[in-house]
Amino acid sequence: MQPKALQISSLLEHAATHHPDVEIVSHLGAGRSQRTDWRTVAQRARRLASALGRLGMEPGARVATLAWNTHRHLELYFGVSGAGSILHTVNPRLFTEQIRYIVNHAADDYLFFDLGFAPLVAELAPSLPSVKAFVALCRREELPALSLAQPLLCYEDLVAGGDEHFDWPALPEDTASSLCYTSGTTGHPKGVLYSHRSTVLHCWTACAADGLGLRARDSVLLAVPMFHVNAWGIPYAAAMCGAKLVLPGPDVSGERLFALMKDEGCTFSLGVPTVWLGFFQYLESLPEAARHELRLERVVVGGSAAPRAIIEKFERLLGVYVIQAWGMTETSPLATIGNLLPRHEVLPLAERYGVQARQGRAIFGVEIAVFDAEGQRLPIGAPRAGELKVRGPWVVSAYYGNEPGSALDADGWFATGDVAMIDADGFVQITDRSKDVIKSGGEWISSIDLENAAVGHPLVKEAAVIGVRHDKWQERPLLIVVPKEGATVSGPEILDFMKDRVARWWLPDDVVFVDELPHTATGKLLKTRLREQFAAHRLPGDPPAG
Ligand code: AMP
Repeated sequence: MQPKALQISSLLEHAATHHPDVEIVSHLGAGRSQRTDWRTVAQRARRLASALGRLGMEPGARVATLAWNTHRHLELYFGVSGAGSILHTVNPRLFTEQIRYIVNHAADDYLFFDLGFAPLVAELAPSLPSVKAFVALCRREELPALSLAQPLLCYEDLVAGGDEHFDWPALPEDTASSLCYTSGTTGHPKGVLYSHRSTVLHCWTACAADGLGLRARDSVLLAVPMFHVNAWGIPYAAAMCGAKLVLPGPDVSGERLFALMKDEGCTFSLGVPTVWLGFFQYLESLPEAARHELRLERVVVGGSAAPRAIIEKFERLLGVYVIQAWGMTETSPLATIGNLLPRHEVLPLAERYGVQARQGRAIFGVEIAVFDAEGQRLPIGAPRAGELKVRGPWVVSAYYGNEPGSALDADGWFATGDVAMIDADGFVQITDRSKDVIKSGGEWISSIDLENAAVGHPLVKEAAVIGVRHDKWQERPLLIVVPKEGATVSGPEILDFMKDRVARWWLPDDVVFVDELPHTATGKLLKTRLREQFAAHRLPGDPPAG
């Protein structure tokens, strides 16, 4: 067979040749949008790549972005990696200090930014010595007035001055293509460097029928940010299959997502649970007839456990099938995907939701296994939870800057830090992050299961469960609830609702109400903060300390 290397540029050229007129719709904020297509994205990505070469960008250079989901960010995905450089998508929701750390750790050569981040760039620029130039993602007349020591360039000028017939270099397939840092709830964020090979292989999973099933007939609303693990690989996969992409820019409010879904005939969407909570809050405020204006068929929920309430609402209100997927920055991210087996198709809905609330089955390419506290591998179907480990060609080997293989154990497994069980059908159930699991009297209580049960209550908007110190049991669960706007609900009412949904001894010992919960930069509950906040909380019935 031909020794053709797997390359990101070939995904784009495929889309430009075979799906040239398929639209890319980009919402730029402030009511402005841009309509382009795969042919134009390819032309502009080639121009960009040639312009970066003229600037003196070397192969392997790091190009950072502080940007929302737009057509320009999409062009950078292909133009930078296709040219042999590394696209480093920086999460702008991180603390300024973390962004500074990340850009310096990666020693980024260029930084491209959306205009909304101009003040942040002005603040950071003096402490980013590796950055040779900043590039504003705008037209010349929109260029912000920034006084920087390094040059400030205009993106549209770069593209206009580039060569649309630029030939993509032939790169070995293990050439590095992009870089993402973990959101890091503790310690410094760590970098994961993807390759052309890992990215293209991962794409096939997004397009496979028992993967995410992405295809040319889909119009995809990308509600997951392009700075969160390469937007779960969808920009590349959409080029592979020629899907239409709808990019929401900075606004992922329920109202905006609904409008885009309706106007662009979206059939497929992806996002973290918090985004969908906002979406349903808006949808449920509309007259029922509005729901029939959507053509949505499938939605991928990942990044945190998909609460059963979300799975049910999608099905009941919109007839949409929720595919739950589990993965992490270290796994590119797709690793397990929740598609049904034949025997699940005939299950009563309530039971089927239970299957969908699990994190799905292994897909070819990622081996998964659960290990107990003694390091013994548990057989599939074992009724016990343990640490989930993974290995495969799109799983990290070492964090950026570390020795190859240094993130793995002796057998090549990467320990995910997630606690999981694998049922007899091979469905993974993540019960916790190992540091979030509640250890009560030698037994483990899943904070995720309790949170899912609590958000099933019709008056609960969001819920978090943490373990707090207990004299007798070592730790017991504390439920922290954000009620729906305008709703009044009591702790006993919520616990009463939960009692048939979880084991009795798991029921939280106390319920507290808050106006909002802290989240990480990728929308996960920030439990470290909650643990600090409630460190001194005394549970009813637990004698005062000392
Ligand atoms: P990140 O690298 O920021 O995407 O975070 C990865 C972590 O998010 C995983 O290790 C899990 O703890 C969590 N996660 C991702 N997807 C899911 C899911 N479907 N259910 C439960 N936890 C998830």
